[in-house]
Amino acid sequence: MNGTTFSDKVAVVTGGGTGLGKEMSLKLAKEGAKVVIASRNIDNLKETAHLIESAGGSVLAIPTDVRDHAKVEELMKATVEKFGRIDILINNAAGNFLIPSEKLTPNGWNAVVRIVLDGTWFCSSVAGKQMIEQGGGCILNIIATYAWTGAPGVVHSASAKAGVLAMTRTLAAEWGRYGIRVNALAPGAMVTEGASKNLKFDSEEAQKLISKNVPLGRLASVDEIAELAVFLCSPKASYITGDVMTADGGAWLKSKSFLDMLGG
Ligand code: NAP
Repeated sequence: MNGTTFSDKVAVVTGGGTGLGKEMSLKLAKEGAKVVIASRNIDNLKETAHLIESAGGSVLAIPTDVRDHAKVEELMKATVEKFGRIDILINNAAGNFLIPSEKLTPNGWNAVVRIVLDGTWFCSSVAGKQMIEQGGGCILNIIATYAWTGAPGVVHSASAKAGVLAMTRTLAAEWGRYGIRVNALAPGAMVTEGASKNLKFDSEEAQKLISKNVPLGRLASVDEIAELAVFLCSPKASYITGDVMTADGGAWLKSKSFLDMLGG
């Protein structure tokens, strides 16, 4: 730990055991936050919790399926029991896979929409009540630029992320009076174990293809996106709410479908 930006603050990060969620959790803890990481795979949670503790941070790892409202209630209750409050919620948990829309089954649709849209709502509504009681808080939703561009090949995820963007703006307008800020962050393609495998850009060749469509000529790094998340949750962003910060190297301005690029 070497910063004090989030001293006395408590942050819940869904999907905090891997990828972007892991990096955001590490950075929040480094700045003094007590961090609660929640997802299904206990081994990933334990590994990240160990990293945070080794760096001198405070962490609680709670196995949680965000699709299960009762489990989300248990998560927030355990957080308040252990750390006394919830100041920051980052809705980062997601699932995704590449599929032409005409081949998508109802189960496939539900698998993604229930994690991204239902999960974000369950966590926001339960944590939001706690934040209202406390007199403030901050919610950050990790979305993707295809929430507004659309993206052939990921209709489930694009539809769910669009819903999350609408939720972001709606809750920001409703809950500003309680001192709760609600924002979204839309990263461009980043190499993380989950996303790059699921969306078939884990090969160097695919990453080169994607980079060609990015005005800045490269993919995002997890580190630079996590830095932005920390900024949006910090007092430096105290007058920002209902906003979506895009960090995709300009890619959405030239967007093409994943299917076209990767020949899926
Ligand atoms: P990731 O490592 O696969 O992260 C997804 C996380 O969500 C995992 O930790 C996973 O953990 C968790 N999760 C999945 N289903 C869950 C459930 N039902 N309940 C609780 N947790 C669940 O991929 P990532 O790239 O870091 O993605 C992080 C965020 O960035 C996502 O919102 C994604 O849509 C967004 N994003 C990523 C990219 C990219 O290119 N990587 C681009 C734009 C936006 P468990 O499996 O253990 O539950």
